[in-house]
Amino acid sequence: MNSIGETTLLIDLNALEHNYRFLKSKLAQETKFLAVVKAFAYGSDMVTVAKKMETLGVDYFAVAYVKEGILLRNAGIKLPILVLHPQHINFHELIEYSLEPSLYSPKILKLFLEVAKDKGQTAYPVHVKFNTGLNRLGFWENDVDYIAEHLRDRKELKIISVFSHLAASEDTNEKSFSLTQIETFKKISKELNQKLGYAPFRHMLNTSGIINYPEAQFEMVRSGIGLYGYGNDKAIDGQLKPVATLKTIISQIHKIEPNESVGYNRAFKSDHYRTTATLPLGHADGIGRHYGNQKGHVRINGKYASVIGNVCMDMIMVDVTDIDCKEGDEVVVFGQNPSAEDFAASANTISYEILTAISPRVKRVIINP
Ligand SMILES: *Cc1c(COP(=O)(O)O)cnc(C)c1O
Repeated sequence: MNSIGETTLLIDLNALEHNYRFLKSKLAQETKFLAVVKAFAYGSDMVTVAKKMETLGVDYFAVAYVKEGILLRNAGIKLPILVLHPQHINFHELIEYSLEPSLYSPKILKLFLEVAKDKGQTAYPVHVKFNTGLNRLGFWENDVDYIAEHLRDRKELKIISVFSHLAASEDTNEKSFSLTQIETFKKISKELNQKLGYAPFRHMLNTSGIINYPEAQFEMVRSGIGLYGYGNDKAIDGQLKPVATLKTIISQIHKIEPNESVGYNRAFKSDHYRTTATLPLGHADGIGRHYGNQKGHVRINGKYASVIGNVCMDMIMVDVTDIDCKEGDEVVVFGQNPSAEDFAASANTISYEILTAISPRVKRVIINP
């Protein structure tokens, strides 16, 4: 490929397809697949990813907020879209754009029921979320009676699915906790089915759940990070392909004398001659200040260069003393090597955070469409 010429996030749709097929291979053929495309498809390009996933045959999409669902509808996405964390203020729009809310508390259920009634809905599809141990969002087990009483004979709403979320699906040390969550979910959904008189479909697994608890796939799974190439596990990462590769170029090379400093607040002080390269991306592009001061490493002509001094808003400086490079050369921030997981780990964070942090200022280029 020719030089990218500026900071660019390459989004590889072949990798997306590969990851989808890998995850599908872990599931029973009839298990439905929900692609999580919240947060701009984990920082990539939500509409492009959703369109590709639609052609690959996924069954459902999920976003976090209503405005994300609206972007998908405006782009012509027709599949059902679950909104994981809708806010009351957006309920009217949610219905206008045929989005499907997660109802997670008596209060939210009541508010949504009012809006659905107001808008003359019948059998509007909703999803009921139960808290089984993450203690984040969800009804409690003892809300089952409340839900059944309020929805059993109401024509406005229809429960399409019930779901829950594992707290530590990637952590095998927490296996017994996860298994307890799964058992609790089974028990709750059975109880709800009896009281409702029908059986909504069930889902509980995220990416690491698919890998570690395939026996709990129920009728659908919800995968995000795995589609984008990461599995919270080295062995799984080896079988997935990163969708996003962040590249940039060297803007300028400097020769630094002993006792000179680099960057704001003179955070890096050199004790000998060094060569530094200035790169056109900074904390406004998503490379947080925690990557500064020798934490983060980028790859230039096959070698690693550490970020020196403080991360600036629009630039970082890296140490290229031992690297044969020149202005205009390409730099890999993350992708295949270093992976987003490794790059993130250098600053004590996780792939999810660095992927979703890459700001809209960074150009997106789709490859292998
Ligand atoms: C974000 C999210 C997912 C996706 O999780 P991954 O670990 O990225 O696969 C699944 N379910 C819920 C409720 C989520 O919020």
